[in-house]
Amino acid sequence: MSILSVKAVVQACLLFSAVATAVESPNSKYLPLENDITTEGLISNLRSLDAIANANGGNRAFGLPGYKASVDYVVSQVSPLPNAKVWTQDFAAAFSQFKSLSLKVGEKRINISSLQFSPSTSDTGVSAPLVLGPTGTDACSAQGYEDIDAKGKIVLVTRQMCPDQTTFAGVVRAAAAAGAASVIIVNNVPYDIGGGTLGAFGQKEKDKAVPTGLISQADGQAIAAQLRSEKTLTATFQHTQINEQRVTQNVFAETTTGDQNSVIMLGAHLDSVQAGAGINDDGSGVTLLLEIFKSLSKHTTFKNKIRFAWWGAEESGLLGSNFYTRNLKSQSGAEADNILAYLNFDMIARGYFGIFDGSGAVPAYKGPPGSEVLHKLFKDAFTERGINKTVIEKFAGNSDYGSFVGTLKKPSGGLHTGSSPKEDSCYHRKCDDINNVDKEVLTTNALITAKVIAQLAAEGEKLIPRTKLAAVDNVNRYADVPAIELRGQQCGGHVLEV
Ligand SMILES: [Zn+2]
Repeated sequence: MSILSVKAVVQACLLFSAVATAVESPNSKYLPLENDITTEGLISNLRSLDAIANANGGNRAFGLPGYKASVDYVVSQVSPLPNAKVWTQDFAAAFSQFKSLSLKVGEKRINISSLQFSPSTSDTGVSAPLVLGPTGTDACSAQGYEDIDAKGKIVLVTRQMCPDQTTFAGVVRAAAAAGAASVIIVNNVPYDIGGGTLGAFGQKEKDKAVPTGLISQADGQAIAAQLRSEKTLTATFQHTQINEQRVTQNVFAETTTGDQNSVIMLGAHLDSVQAGAGINDDGSGVTLLLEIFKSLSKHTTFKNKIRFAWWGAEESGLLGSNFYTRNLKSQSGAEADNILAYLNFDMIARGYFGIFDGSGAVPAYKGPPGSEVLHKLFKDAFTERGINKTVIEKFAGNSDYGSFVGTLKKPSGGLHTGSSPKEDSCYHRKCDDINNVDKEVLTTNALITAKVIAQLAAEGEKLIPRTKLAAVDNVNRYADVPAIELRGQQCGGHVLEV
């Protein structure tokens, strides 16, 4: 039997069951999407994603085989469904992967993490005297080095939030301008942040950057103390990595049902970091979208079109969602106008119950007008389930809502369960695998979302104020690469420190 004829049979059966449901509950004005959400369904996709990572070098990261297999998996799950339009979108993005990395201070080996887009040293590395960089924001400017002889040396400097809103690039730029041969950045928080990135600086101004690595706060403080008490200390830093453009994909599926002029979008990123399988971050959002789409595709009686996006290269700086939204803007204003709202699901399987902020609890990080409606729908759905303790998530710019909030200024919302060590000690680490899931939290978030989507499918066009692209400015204040640098210290919009 061909796939097509299987589909026809399934459609016929579903049509029958939709009629049966209508007879059973004639008063319900919302689709019973919640009935289809099961822990088993949610976990089964996560098992598949975990297996994909295991079969592909331990990750599902952009530019690597595990990502391609993840794209194939999502497409294979949604393509056979009835009432589904499925497509992928290619885009090129800057890829970075470290090959070798080591640091020796005196005779002692020090653990060191790589920063994406750092230039490489030679194969033998840089051996030079170690010198302490300036402290505070002096570390962000070449002037801060006036009294420091950094020329040809390896600079040890603490990570800072610099005026350019970066925490790595700003200090590397200053040290390199002062003549440093390479830079060792000391973390400014006591926990592992899984590396970082030199962002746009490392890509677009690579001739101004120098090889850089990141060490822990404890190691950095010990070396700094040693430097202060000894006259000279020599370090050897060796680091090579690939930095190049690679083509990757976003995956989309939307309901064939629903008004194409009123589109509700849901998004989750499909890529992991290179360090691990990315099961909470963000297999959890991926599976939530899959299960809700599977349920929605059974129905043909709702008003608004629902579009699902599985974004590529989020971990490299929200690149997939950025490409999509910018493309909408340049190619067709109407296409962007038709999007009513965007909902983001990035890390939803362990921690607290967080709802993105439409209320303006912290005005600077509030969603655009209309976001308050989405916030309330989620809040009410939690309350109905007896969950009154929810956290307000700031739209701090570190997930794919960035372009929708910043560039398109669309009403936005969604869920997030936190990424500080308290909520997810495996954040961006190898242990973010199939065991890094709280099934109850994941299932609850999926049930809540099913309820909200049923409401938006039925009456989103009445609930959400329509926004026009004409009102949009050209400044993409969230989606620029420095935003990703904030991920290490601002966890999923839940600001720990800046
Ligand atoms: Zn994520």
